[in-house]
Amino acid sequence: MQKLLDDSVTYAKSFPKTGAVASYIPELAKADPTRYGAAIALPNGRTLISGDTDVPFTMQSISKVVSLILALQTSGYDAVFKRVGMEPTGDAFNSIIRLETNTAKPSNPMINAGAIVVASCIQCEHPFEAMLQLTRKFCGNDQIELNEAVYLSEKKEGKRNRAMAYFMQSEGILPSDVDVEYYLDQYFRMCSVSVTAPDLARMGMVLANNGVNPVTGERVAEGWQVRIAKTFMVTCGLYDSSGAFAVKVGIPSKSGVGGGILSAVEKRMGIGVFHPMLDAKGNSIGGVRMLEFLSQRMGLHMFSEPETVAG
Ligand code: GLU
Repeated sequence: MQKLLDDSVTYAKSFPKTGAVASYIPELAKADPTRYGAAIALPNGRTLISGDTDVPFTMQSISKVVSLILALQTSGYDAVFKRVGMEPTGDAFNSIIRLETNTAKPSNPMINAGAIVVASCIQCEHPFEAMLQLTRKFCGNDQIELNEAVYLSEKKEGKRNRAMAYFMQSEGILPSDVDVEYYLDQYFRMCSVSVTAPDLARMGMVLANNGVNPVTGERVAEGWQVRIAKTFMVTCGLYDSSGAFAVKVGIPSKSGVGGGILSAVEKRMGIGVFHPMLDAKGNSIGGVRMLEFLSQRMGLHMFSEPETVAG
């Protein structure tokens, strides 16, 4: 398996260098486009690593998985899905269009508008602290912290997210008695949590194990919460490439414009990959290549025949 992981990195590097690092958040433009990292976490606690696995990057949209689970934990199913839908959009992650033409209720929790609403559903005194703690538990890493520079950059430049939040408040989707900037601040902070590929691999393993850390036995989230999160990872996890990714790779995954992708192979493993060059949809180019390679070589597609799965 170590050889396959190494080969997946080599495979991803073999393609011509296309795409671009995210620059609409100025701080993200500083990412080094030559970095490729991949990690696999196994149920026995081993984490295999290859490439630039010590390079930190911000979770960005991957944080939407953690915030959704925290919102479900603190507000419950009905309160969350009263305010956010369950359908993929086929639009870009930061698209505004459906908020006015369809309904102001965002289509799902994995797009920006949905995640801002989800942030407003986290019922606790210090929502960001709670989200950080939950991320640390998922990743089995107490050292995970906010990247302050990325957070401040997002907060300064997040005009589109701000526009969506104010619009949703005007339509009664966000509470009118709370300053919208409060929810936006939580959202920007959540996106700016800094992780590595092995952190994402370990989180993927906990998701693959339905919310229980297989090493410590600790339950990080309830099975029903994890099932909902993984379902959205399948239907909406790779922005408006989710359909093609489901056909080609077939592993519940969530990407972020920081260049990371979180993947959970049911019961078997978690995978974390990283490469900051993004395609036109906002997905890590190298990350998708690595996952295509691993899925094919190890038979990890969710509809693979069991006997094709490498041990
Ligand atoms: N913080 C980013 C934004 O709000 C997250 C986008 C992403 O990773 O999809 O635009």
